[in-house]
Amino acid sequence: MIPVEKNKEYEVEIESISSDGNGIAHIEGYTVFIPACAIGDRIRVKIVKVNKTYGFGRIEEILESSKSRKVPECAHYKRCGGCNLMHMDYRSQLDVKLAIVRDAISRIGGEDGGKVERIIGMNDIRGYRNKMVFPCDMVDGEIQFGFYANRSHDLVPIDDCFISDEISKPVLGAVKEYMQKTNTPVYDEKTKKGEIRRVFIRKGFSTGEVMVVICSAKKALRNSDILVELLRGISENIKSIVLNINTKPNNLVLGDKNVTLWGKDYIEDILCGFRYKISPHSFFQVNPVQTEVLYNTAIEMAGLTGNENLLDIYSGIGTISITASEYAKEVIGVEIVEQAVIDAKENAKLNSANNCSFYAGEAEKIVPVLMENGFLPDVAIIDPPRKGSDEVTLSALANSSVDRIVYVSCNPATLARDVRYLVECGFELDKAVAVDMFPNTCHVETVILMSRVDG
Ligand code: SAH
Repeated sequence: MIPVEKNKEYEVEIESISSDGNGIAHIEGYTVFIPACAIGDRIRVKIVKVNKTYGFGRIEEILESSKSRKVPECAHYKRCGGCNLMHMDYRSQLDVKLAIVRDAISRIGGEDGGKVERIIGMNDIRGYRNKMVFPCDMVDGEIQFGFYANRSHDLVPIDDCFISDEISKPVLGAVKEYMQKTNTPVYDEKTKKGEIRRVFIRKGFSTGEVMVVICSAKKALRNSDILVELLRGISENIKSIVLNINTKPNNLVLGDKNVTLWGKDYIEDILCGFRYKISPHSFFQVNPVQTEVLYNTAIEMAGLTGNENLLDIYSGIGTISITASEYAKEVIGVEIVEQAVIDAKENAKLNSANNCSFYAGEAEKIVPVLMENGFLPDVAIIDPPRKGSDEVTLSALANSSVDRIVYVSCNPATLARDVRYLVECGFELDKAVAVDMFPNTCHVETVILMSRVDG
């Protein structure tokens, strides 16, 4: 018997926050997920969806506010849905994220959640993102940039996003002015007609350099000199203006082809003291301040003394490899995206990290081959995408000479699953630290150290 009915209202207290940021309450043992809640809120909830073992609700009235509630700092909080923890003070956000990681490690990983020692937050959480993508659409007859409302493709006009850099607003203003002056239309997702799909802005926080990418469904941009002039008028820091072409009717942020309209075809930034060239397609961590914290934590956990062979799996453009190269004898990076590997090689050269080499391919194919070919790694740092690593890669590590694995994860659930597998393979969980890379959202990064039991 399900003790709740759709559209009926109940009084509940919020007990915890789920990994996707919803409040969790129970009605006679039945779990209800409710957005925009804080722990300790007493609310009247309306049930909007009923599944067999859990349901969803919506706040009708807050009867008693949690102590961790605060007024969201962004006027767009309600409609945008991007910063779904913004109604909590920052300390409470950090507590929630630490609890999410600990819960995954104990519930999914079967390990002691208390081994997650702490979470490292940021001092200043405004404007922490170095990359923003603003789709555009016609709203009430006017060209607007903004974000899609939660679970929809309805554009919420926003040019002053709290977590983006201040440069976004004048850049979007300039692109809009250009489109108005030249009658360049927005791209309409429904009719597949029009031109401008979105604007992609990236800033090197250390160098100040800014790249503006205009994503279009057409192969050329009319009067691009007008756009260039408007953008260059904003700041001398604008170093690269690029047209990205995606003629296909898909939702990819970027198409394959870039045409540089003005300036360089990349910008540069400095991370942990090393310099990187960043092209429109390059993956580069979006919160550089916390990336330094994350990398330093991972490298410290790796316990490098300068004599180790280090394997950096899921190495992207080589940032972890290059940062760790000072403390290791030899570093091998493995990464699936070929262009990222080309960038990584170039970055290693740029930084004279001569003990780094990189291989392109799937980790599950390359890692076993490296071992077969006699590579004897001492330590592995692995930083997989959200879906986590896989048993082929992890068992290749377990069967190798590696005695420490540092796992950097952006998804506590897949991390915990992989921890469980590594424990089965003869490793133990030593310790973990969470790092907040995405303040105001429910995302959390974790660094974990596993070592060989008999090692
Ligand atoms: N360590 C890097 C990148 C981490 S993101 C950094 O900090 O910047 C995860 C990376 O894993 C991405 O670059 C992605 O392209 C890569 N990747 C995804 N699946 C992979 C696979 N099966 N084998 C190797 N690399 C993969």
